[in-house]
Amino acid sequence: MDRLAPEARSRLMLRIRSEGTGPELVVRAVLSGTGGAGAEFRRNDRSLPGSPDFSFPSRMKALFVHGCFWHSCRCRKGRTPKSNAAYWAEKFRRNKERDRRAAAAIRRMGWAVLVIWEHETKDVEGLRRRIVAFLSS
Ligand SMILES: [Zn+2]
Repeated sequence: MDRLAPEARSRLMLRIRSEGTGPELVVRAVLSGTGGAGAEFRRNDRSLPGSPDFSFPSRMKALFVHGCFWHSCRCRKGRTPKSNAAYWAEKFRRNKERDRRAAAAIRRMGWAVLVIWEHETKDVEGLRRRIVAFLSS
């Protein structure tokens, strides 16, 4: 299994602290720390449906980073607020539909799609392994 040596891990953690803890920033720091597993990446690629947060044109791979609240994750952070519940339920339904359509459209173009949820960026080592596996598959 591809484990990170302690020095490499602390370099990665340092980079994450300096670049910020927003989920996209954590993913970007992981990508920079792994050299993007050798793949050049674009941010918010508007040439693809749904403008994925990261795209790897040379490998035809796209990566979305979903905030747990806005994309209504199944975790605790994805719960629908109690006030204005109908408004939020409709908003989340449309967000999920948009996510689903974008991923399906990208896959129809022959690309692979990976979705990373915000809560999954807390486990940096697990995140790094998933990204490396995705990019090298
Ligand atoms: Zn979540």
